[in-house]
Amino acid sequence: ATPTAVMVATGVGANHGVLVKGGDALERAQNVKYIIFDKTGTLTQGKATVTTTKVFSGMDIGDFLTLVASAEASSEHPLAKAILDYAFHFHFFGKLSSSNDDLKKRKEDVFSQWLLEVADFSALPGKGVQCWIDGKKILVGNRTLISENGVNIPEEAENFLVDMELNAKTGILVAYDGDFIGLVGVTDPLKREAAVVIEGLKKMGVYPVMVTGDNWRTALAVAKEVGIEDVRAEVMPAGKADVIRSFQKDGSVVAMVGDGINDSPALAAADVGMAIGAGTDIAIEAADYVLVRNNLEDVITAIDLSRKTFSRIR
Ligand code: ADP
Ligand code: MG
Repeated sequence: ATPTAVMVATGVGANHGVLVKGGDALERAQNVKYIIFDKTGTLTQGKATVTTTKVFSGMDIGDFLTLVASAEASSEHPLAKAILDYAFHFHFFGKLSSSNDDLKKRKEDVFSQWLLEVADFSALPGKGVQCWIDGKKILVGNRTLISENGVNIPEEAENFLVDMELNAKTGILVAYDGDFIGLVGVTDPLKREAAVVIEGLKKMGVYPVMVTGDNWRTALAVAKEVGIEDVRAEVMPAGKADVIRSFQKDGSVVAMVGDGINDSPALAAADVGMAIGAGTDIAIEAADYVLVRNNLEDVITAIDLSRKTFSRIR
């Protein structure tokens, strides 16, 4: 393609919210063979909602939610946001005035009065959070986090958890002072265009894969809904780049689509990294493409644009 053709294609892309960083990236996209999608916030809307809570300790549900929300209050994770939202509504929705204008401010005020004091908070990427409340350790996260800390998960809870996961929900486990105390089930719906885009990519001869830190059962349930057969689940944040490299081994051109901080090493490792949506700054920096509309159809637009721009001269 001539420099002019590249410039035109870049402009056409920009008009569609497909921002490409340079002619090389534009050229590589035509040959993408494997395309690796992050699950949360990329295939899904990234708007998690709590759908179930289950307390196993005889603790009052309100007290349980206060504990869990307090532990998650310093986390930036979408799951933490879902829990805080839910706890807030559980405790305070009925007590708000009818004015919505200052809802956000009000929420912050209420929280600062209501959340419990937390000591030694740490976020454990790919696992959850831990901190101390009332001098006792609280863990909120996945099975790995709970088991690593030597907390026994009761059989009834495990059954409940499996049921959530088979229904494409993420189950969050909670342990306090060495005991398992309950579960929170969270659901994050697929983006509405996701399944159509996956089908379209297959028709274009591009092989889709899903990668996630979430557990295998939830991952497989979501993958089935969206039409992806190849899944890599329970991948620690650093492992996503290894998944990319494993597909590159035979010299194939590999694309990665992701939105999170967790995804930036993989976006950088990919031949064609695509940051989607508002994305985090670091993801945008690591990527070759930025899909600003947060619409998965633009993945197809990007590959199409490259194919159309470079096919003419060969
Ligand atoms: P993803 O690849 O889907 O973005 P992450 O690597 O961020 O997933 O997290 C993987 C898993 O770790 C989550 O599905 C969840 O079970 C657990 N987890 C991570 N952060 C938190 C948190 N703040 N609260 C509860 N669970 C968490
Ligand atoms: Mg994500």
